[in-house]
Amino acid sequence: MYRAPRGTSDILPEEQAYWRYVEEKVVELCQLYGYERIDSPAFEDTRLFARSVGEGTDIVEKEMYTFTDKGGNLLTLRPEGTAPVCRAYLEHGLHNRPQPVKLYYIAPIFRYERPQAGRYRQHYQFGCEAIGDDDPALDAEVIEMAWRFFQSVNLHHLTLQLNSIGCKRCRPGYLNTLKDYYASHTEELCADCKVRLVRNPLRLLDCKRPACQRIADAAPRSSDHLCPECQSHFTRLQRYLSLLEIPFALNHRLVRGLDYYTRTVFEIQPENGGAQSTLVGGGRYDDLIEELGGRPTPAIGYAMGIERIILNLKEQHIPVPPLPGAQVFIAHLGDEAREEAIKLASRLRRAGTAVILATGSKSLKAQLRQANRLGARYALILGEDELKSGTASLRDMTTSQQSLIHLSELPGALK
Ligand code: ATP
Ligand code: MG
Repeated sequence: MYRAPRGTSDILPEEQAYWRYVEEKVVELCQLYGYERIDSPAFEDTRLFARSVGEGTDIVEKEMYTFTDKGGNLLTLRPEGTAPVCRAYLEHGLHNRPQPVKLYYIAPIFRYERPQAGRYRQHYQFGCEAIGDDDPALDAEVIEMAWRFFQSVNLHHLTLQLNSIGCKRCRPGYLNTLKDYYASHTEELCADCKVRLVRNPLRLLDCKRPACQRIADAAPRSSDHLCPECQSHFTRLQRYLSLLEIPFALNHRLVRGLDYYTRTVFEIQPENGGAQSTLVGGGRYDDLIEELGGRPTPAIGYAMGIERIILNLKEQHIPVPPLPGAQVFIAHLGDEAREEAIKLASRLRRAGTAVILATGSKSLKAQLRQANRLGARYALILGEDELKSGTASLRDMTTSQQSLIHLSELPGALK
């Protein structure tokens, strides 16, 4: 027996109500904030991700699904959504449109991770990117948008964490201060952090090991080492969030796992959250477009994991509207009745009624049992008697009441 590859799963019909619910809320939200949908290919040139996400990151070092195709091209299944959107922005000259260009996507993401609850090798992200402006009001709007999304799906008990990690002018100085601080703690660090100290010192701050966390807690803070421009940007962002009544907590250890972030970084988590609980991660990436060959173009975005949203909806017992099921089940007895039923099913569907037509030659009882299990509102029964009189028996599946109705009247009656 074949099974779905480790870390992947099938989304069966009974799960689809959750997916539809989340997607509908996403579409509504994006329309409210002026975001338009973009879909990019599932794979890209590997260099796009190596360049943008960063060589020293977990994603590029350990998590990418990379392959060479038959033409010898080195390709990678999308491990995140921002780089492809930026690539598309550049490729299609979107800088010619009014800035910021606001785009969103819902797309599968592929990462070779250790599968566990809320962590998969293929998952879906909803993400937004606002490209072409550095106004902190845009940061506030983007964060508000992510925050309001959870209100719209009825998820509560979340926290918003915020930090600023500076820009290419002030960060190098901060990183030196950070390295100096860590130099006197090298012996106490875990093996991963020893590597981070050399390759990616900012990541020292979000190590999950308690011993490393204690060291990180007392580390110098990026927000204390911002240049005047970044400082003012961060102050204004906080002011706008307060105006919008979005509650946030400053977290000086929040740095995010991708290299392209500058200034604003944020995450939204459940209050009782564990390691796999981050629902949204996002931030500014003011240098990325330039890094990919464009003109200097500030931008900000976020992404959220749809599976984790659904896990939380279930945990908080949030009801989602059921998907519309079959309205009518057509049961039939005998060859002649079957032919009449085939025509009737087609006629009703053309009139806009959702119909399930019985197949095979089961007993009436078996057919009605099936109608019941499918959740049909009505069953239409075509037997010999009905055929003779040009009628069908219309059975209300909830009350079991049954009445004869003329075939010609059916489409209208069912509407
Ligand atoms: P984490 O710290 O949990 O590994 P991350 O920082 O790698 O998250 P991002 O790259 O910011 O996550 O991705 C955005 C969102 O996508 C996350 O906040 C999370 O909701 C979701 N996500 C990330 N990786 C996975 C995964 N392997 N399986 C399911 N959802 C994921
Ligand atoms: Mg991760």
